[in-house]
Amino acid sequence: MTEQTLIIVGASLAGAKAAEELRERGFEGRVVLIGSEPERPYERPPLTKDYVRGESERDKVFVHDPGFYDEHQIELISGVTATAIDAAHSKVTLESGDELEYDRLLITTGAEPRRINVPGAGLDGIHYLRTLDDSTVLRERLNAGGRVAVVGAGWIGSEFAASARQRGLEVALIDPLELPNARVFGSEVGSFYRDVHAQHGVELLLGDGVESFVGDGSVKAVKTSSGKTVDCDFAVVGIGVAPRVDLARQAGVEVDDGIVVDQRLASSVPNVFAAGDVAGAWHPFFQQRIRVEHWANALNQGPAAARSMLGDETPYDRLPYFFSDQYDVGMEYSGHARDWDRVVIRGDRDSGEFIAFWLHERRVVAGMNVNVWDVNEHVQALIRSRGQVDVSALTDPDTSLQSLVGTDT
Ligand SMILES: Cc1cc2nc3c(=O)[nH]c(=O)nc-3n(C[C@H](O)[C@H](O)[C@H](O)COP(=O)(O)OP(=O)(O)OC[C@H]3O[C@@H](n4cnc5c(N)ncnc54)[C@H](O)[C@@H]3O)c2cc1C
Repeated sequence: MTEQTLIIVGASLAGAKAAEELRERGFEGRVVLIGSEPERPYERPPLTKDYVRGESERDKVFVHDPGFYDEHQIELISGVTATAIDAAHSKVTLESGDELEYDRLLITTGAEPRRINVPGAGLDGIHYLRTLDDSTVLRERLNAGGRVAVVGAGWIGSEFAASARQRGLEVALIDPLELPNARVFGSEVGSFYRDVHAQHGVELLLGDGVESFVGDGSVKAVKTSSGKTVDCDFAVVGIGVAPRVDLARQAGVEVDDGIVVDQRLASSVPNVFAAGDVAGAWHPFFQQRIRVEHWANALNQGPAAARSMLGDETPYDRLPYFFSDQYDVGMEYSGHARDWDRVVIRGDRDSGEFIAFWLHERRVVAGMNVNVWDVNEHVQALIRSRGQVDVSALTDPDTSLQSLVGTDT
C-alpha cells in the first residue's frame, strides 16, 4: 500500500494539535501542515493579556517547541497560503504554484477580524488584534503610553482595554450595546463587567457607536454616533470575527456560518474535515450546529478531527468552554445559552467572586464562575444533566453543586 498523505490547511492551535494527534495515534504516513503566518503555530490568548502587556516573552506563546515538528515528521510549511482545493482530484494548490495530493484534508483556517467600515477607517493608528505581529505592534504602542480608543466591548476589546489600563494608558471603550458582551452575558453579568472597567478608570461610551475616525494621516479622534468626540493617540477595533471559508466554498464544500461539518467534523465533501473557529459543527448534545470561537474548542476539536480522519466514529460533544482574564477578574464560562429566561447568582456579585447560571425553564444552560475555581466540572455536569434545579439551592453557596446534579424537583 502506498503511503497516505494527510494535509492540514491552517497552522494555528486546531491544526497543530490535529497534527500532534495524528502522530499520537500512530499514523505513519505523511502529515503536512500548511500555514500562512511566518511563525510556527502559536496560541492567541496571551496576545490580549500578558504578552501584549510585556509581561511574558514571545517564546512562551508557541504551541510546541521549535524541534517538535521535525521530531514528529510533521512537514510544517509556514508563511505559505493554500490558494485552492481541488476536491475532485484531492489536491491542494499553494501560492507558490506547488500542488500537493491528499488522502484526507483538514481545514483549520480559523477566523479573521471584521473590519469597521466608517469614514476614516483607513487612517494610520487604527489597529486590529488577531496575530502575534498585531500584538507585538500594540505591545510597543503600549510602551509609548497615551490614550487609546477601543472600539467594541466584546472579548478582544474588553481584554485589551484592561491590559492598556494595567499599563497606565487612558482608555475609552466604545460599544453600541449598553453593556460589555451583552449578547452573551445579559444584564446581570454584563453590568458586573461594566462596573469592573469603570472601577479601573475606563471611560465607558456604551450604547454609542462609531460615526467616523478623524485625523490627518493618523487617527486623532473618534466621532461617536451620539456626537461625542473621543480624542486618542491610537485605536483598537475588536468588533468580532468572520470564519475564513473562501477556500472551502470555492472547493464546493458546504458553508453556512463556517464550514458545515457533522458530529465527526466531516464536511459535505468526502475526505474533507474542518475544526476550530472555522467549523460549524453539529453538536449532539444541543442538537444544533454551533460554531465556537474559543481556545478550548480549537484545542480539542483539532485532535477530534484528526481521529475522525483516521476512521474513529466518536462524535465530538464537548460543551463549549471559554475563559477570560481582565484585571484581577478571571472567569470560565461553560455551555451555550442563546435563550434563557433567568440569570441567577450564587455568591455575592459585588464581592467579585460568584457563579452565574443562565436558566431556561429552571434548567442550567450555561454557567460562569468568576474568581471561583475548581467548579467547572460541576457546572458542566449540571448542564449535561438537563434536570430542573431548585433555584434556592443553586444560589446557596452552602449547598454543594454536585448534590444538585440530576435532582429534578
Ligand atoms: C487576541 C486573542 C485573544 C484570545 N483570547 C482568548 C481567551 O482568552 N479565551 C478563549 O477561550 N479564546 C480566546 N481567543 C480565541 C482563540 O484564540 C481562537 O478560538 C483560536 O485561536 C482558534 O484557533 P484556530 O486554530 O481554529 O484558528 P486561528 O487561530 O484563527 O488560526 C487559523 C490559521 O490558519 C491560517 N490560514 C488561514 N487561511 C489559510 C490558508 N488558505 N492557507 C494557509 N493558512 C491559512 C491563518 O493564518 C491562521 O494562522 C482569543 C483570540 C484572539 C485573537
